[in-house]
Amino acid sequence: MVKKVTIMNNPLYPALLKKLSEGAELTKNEYLELIRNRETVRDMASELARAERDRSYGPCIFVRGLIEFTNCCRNDCYYCGIRRSNTNIRRYRLSPEDILSCVDTGYGLGFRTFVMQGGEDPYYTDDILSDIIRSIKELHPDCAVTLSAGERSYESYRKLREAGADRYLLRHETVNPGHYARLHPSSMSHKERTNRLKMLMELGFQTGAGFMVGSPYQTEEDLADELIFLRGLRPHMVGIGPFIPHKDTPFAGMEAGSSELTVFMLSLIRLTLPYVLLPATTALNTVDPQGRIKGINSGANVLMPNLTPEDLRNDYSLYDNKLTSGPGAAANIGLLKDLVRATGCTIVTDRGDCRYI
Ligand code: SAH
Repeated sequence: MVKKVTIMNNPLYPALLKKLSEGAELTKNEYLELIRNRETVRDMASELARAERDRSYGPCIFVRGLIEFTNCCRNDCYYCGIRRSNTNIRRYRLSPEDILSCVDTGYGLGFRTFVMQGGEDPYYTDDILSDIIRSIKELHPDCAVTLSAGERSYESYRKLREAGADRYLLRHETVNPGHYARLHPSSMSHKERTNRLKMLMELGFQTGAGFMVGSPYQTEEDLADELIFLRGLRPHMVGIGPFIPHKDTPFAGMEAGSSELTVFMLSLIRLTLPYVLLPATTALNTVDPQGRIKGINSGANVLMPNLTPEDLRNDYSLYDNKLTSGPGAAANIGLLKDLVRATGCTIVTDRGDCRYI
């Protein structure tokens, strides 16, 4: 007689999730089991993660105005559309005046955090960036400034912090050095990247780590390791989104990461780091029209609508088919409010600092 095994009824995975939601530390193997068997516990993970988010911050979704201030980059990451070697791209840089004008527009729309993200562009010296940060802070002292400008020296980060930058996003991209080496040219170092996260935390930035889900060569074991790494690092923010191929990169033909796995990872991150600020990213909404909603329903609590001048938005092309209009555009914050309200959450327009530093 054939023995029937119904995984659906295996009590192990729900028990593991419950344990995690009660604050216990899971082993790598336990995380791995959950990731491998996510089909069976997906809904439960979302539910627990949502409850955990609500316990930490209430059913609040924080919004950040995203200003993609330069698509010039000295790096050559194999996955990224604005990599140095891509000659099929119109490069741009926003002037300090342009950036301040984006901030003013965003301020009028209610934003109180601005994220300046760009390629690693040496044009923006410490002095230039510091002046921009100071101007934003002078004009709008009630706002937080987040930078996402890649790897710089300790001294540079120190100056930017001194100028008033509050937060810094620097995804480590992968926890696994061997995997890192398959995503980046040899001139880039995994150790240098992760060390910078420690520098940023030491300098008092609210710091964001993160990685792509489903990047080429990533394994489920890597994902389990990500959770162990994040638990040890205790960053204030974690940015994850599915990898999406870009036609002018060496990874053009690779498969995109899935919405379903990304959303599950969001739940596990929320349960592992209850206080974390966790965006539902544009990339997630690009692979899945319901991505933003699914992210929020699985414990995410940040959205980053786009404030980049409209005529340049398409040139900040990290990956193909990036969404640049609709509720993800800052000007359409009204649409976003409606979408968020339908999830039972409310958009909050204060700075949205991490509460448990
Ligand atoms: N230069 C900055 C900002 C990089 S762009 C820095 O080094 O931090 C922000 C993030 O977009 C990257 O950290 C990467 O995780 C993500 N990204 C880049 N290319 C991508 C792609 N093809 N698919 C999905 N995400 C991508």
